[in-house]
Formats: sequence, C-alpha cells, structure tokens
Amino acid sequence: MRDICEREVKYESGFYRKRPVALVRGEGARVWDAEGREYIDCIGGHGVAVVGHANPAVAEAIAAQARKLLTCPNGYCNDVRAELLELLVSIAPGDFGRAFLCNSGAEAVEAALKMARIVTGKTGFVAAMRGFHGRTLGALSCTWRKEYREPVEPLVPGVTFVPYNDLEAMARALEGNDVAGVILEVVQGEGGVIPGKGEYLRGIEALCREHNALFIVDEVQTGFGRTGKMFACEHYGLEPDLLCVAKGIAGGVPMGAVLIHRRLGRMPARLHGSTFGGNPLACAAALAAIRYIREEGLPRRAAELGAYFLERLRGLSSPLVREVRGLGLMVGVELKRAARPFIDALVDKGVLTLPAGATVIRFLPPLVISREELDRVAEAVGEVLHG
Ligand SMILES: *Cc1c(COP(=O)(O)O)cnc(C)c1O
Repeated sequence: MRDICEREVKYESGFYRKRPVALVRGEGARVWDAEGREYIDCIGGHGVAVVGHANPAVAEAIAAQARKLLTCPNGYCNDVRAELLELLVSIAPGDFGRAFLCNSGAEAVEAALKMARIVTGKTGFVAAMRGFHGRTLGALSCTWRKEYREPVEPLVPGVTFVPYNDLEAMARALEGNDVAGVILEVVQGEGGVIPGKGEYLRGIEALCREHNALFIVDEVQTGFGRTGKMFACEHYGLEPDLLCVAKGIAGGVPMGAVLIHRRLGRMPARLHGSTFGGNPLACAAALAAIRYIREEGLPRRAAELGAYFLERLRGLSSPLVREVRGLGLMVGVELKRAARPFIDALVDKGVLTLPAGATVIRFLPPLVISREELDRVAEAVGEVLHG
C-alpha cells in the first residue's frame, strides 16, 4: 500500500491532500484498502456512490455498452442517449422538457450559467455565501470560499453573494440589477450541510419570475435520492428554470446534466457543446443507476435511514457537538472545534467521513447502506467524541 501511495503522491498534480490509504475495492457501502482492511464508506466518492460500490446492474450495463459503442458524436443520435434523455425529463421535479448532458457537476453549472445569459440577455448572477458550485472559472465565480477564488482572479464579473436563508437580502440583490440567474443549493453541502428553508426557496422562485432572472438549482450533491426524495426540490415543490445534477447520476461513471424547464424551450444551436457529454457509456450507466434507484426505492430508504441515523447521532449527546442536522442521508455533525482530528480518528476505526467546512463532519453514504452499518458508524462517532 505504501508503494501505491508514494507513487500517487509523487506524480499527481499536488492539488489534493492525500491520506496514505489506497482503496482498491468496494461493495455496497463498504470499501477495502490494499492491505485488505475494511471501511464503512460515508464519503461515497463525495456522494457519488448512491447505488453502492460495484453495483451489479451498473457494472453489467457498462460492460454490455463497452462491447457495443462507447462514443457517438452529438451531431448524431444514439439509442441509449435518447432513452436517458427521455427518462431524465420524465423523473424531473416538474415540467422539464429537455436536458443537456455533460461530464461533471462543474460542467453542468457552467452550462447553466451560459444558458441563463443566453435566455435573459443579462449578465449578472446572485449566489449564496457558503455555496459551492465547482472549480472551473465560471462555477468558481459563484462559489463562496475566498481561498478557492482569490488566487485565480479575475473570475467572471458581476456575481453578488448574499446570506443563505435570507429572503430580504435576495430581494435587495435582485432589485434593479442586471441579474441573469440566481444559483443555489437546496441543502448546502460543502458549506456545512445547511438545509434551505422551503419558504425561502419558494420565495426566490417567485422573485426570479418577477425580475426575469432564471432560478438555477444546483442539485449536484442532493439529486438522485440523497435527501429522501429523487430531487431535493420535491421537498418544497420547487420548479426551477434550470436544474444541475451530476454526482450520483451514473452510478460512479462521470456524468453531469442540466435539466431545462419547458418554459425555456430549446437552446439556440451551436452556442454550447461537449465532446464526451452524453457518451453512450455514461448514458448506459445512468440508465442502469436511475432504474436501480427507482426500483429499489432508494429515495424512501434515504428518508427512513436518514431520520434513524440523525436520531442515533443526536442521542450521542456529546458536549463537543453544536448541532446534528441533515436531510435524508446527507448528514452533518457540527462540532465546537475543528472536525479534522475526529475525521482522522474515524478512519482508524474503519469509518470514512468527510469535512464540510472546518467544523462539520459530513456523511454521504451509499443509499444502500444498512441500518447495522449506520449503527456501527454512530458508535464509532460516539467513541471518537468521547475518546
Ligand atoms: C460536487 C459539487 C459540484 C461540482 O461537481 P464536480 O463534478 O466536482 O465538478 C457542484 N455543485 C455542488 C453542489 C457539488 O456538491
């Protein structure tokens, strides 16, 4: 295992801080390192592994498609792509008529920002403090953390940041401004697992209509069952103009998408595109993953297990805990001190978790995780908090 990590650290760009653990295999909610040690995986590839690691339905679909056709230009049509587009539009939270397929969350956000400018003819954006939308220049322009933005400025101009869950601040930001779109998460992920309030999000939808700005919802992390509904928008009856998704969409194969509300019609030809976007391999994986999510009722499972897990964590009653919060199986434990040492201690106990900001331990397990596995996670959290 040392050999693997030494080479990876030596040759990788350096952008990632790496733990000296090499993960080589997974199944369901578990992963194993190169020395055979087992972990319960509450990182899930940053929330990607919704259907579990080595999901047989997804593996089968990938293998079959690989033998058939891996790439098909977007200037031509393809059977699995057509099928996926139809499925995406049919499961979307509201009257969505079309979708744009790409390869990551940041790419979905980039496409949505361009669409907002194209549709409205305006240029500015409003985003939330503590929001996260990706690392490419456009997406980064709407991302809150200064440490990510400032070293690579100038970014896309005209982005206003407002406090999350503050409707009046949003109203002021939209007043008399040249705003093409408002971009928000329904539950802020990187920002600390902060659920948006229904009244707030519905209020923004109305404000956007009033100001002829597009309401762009970033469900890259919350989509595909994570929060206990297929899309987090469904908790509050939101019908945004553009809905960005990625992470869990294709069972772990890189893919992103922007779902486009029917009220926007079709986008003008040639103003955007992607070589790999909507490639048949990713489409086949997505079809298998989404069907699995629906057939296995994973959104309902996330709602039930998430409520159970929240209760277990709240029951730990440690004086180090400020708040336990979440929606479905998107859960955060906010501490009164830095989360890092506790996340490290959890790795030693065979539980992988990730931070969300400096003080929050975040859990994004595969939605196939069992109640017993969640019990073990909660026990391990209790041990490191009391230890
Ligand atoms: C992860 C994430 C992104 C960026 O996705 P990438 O695939 O890493 O580019 C954007 N928005 C949200 C809410 C995310 O959680």
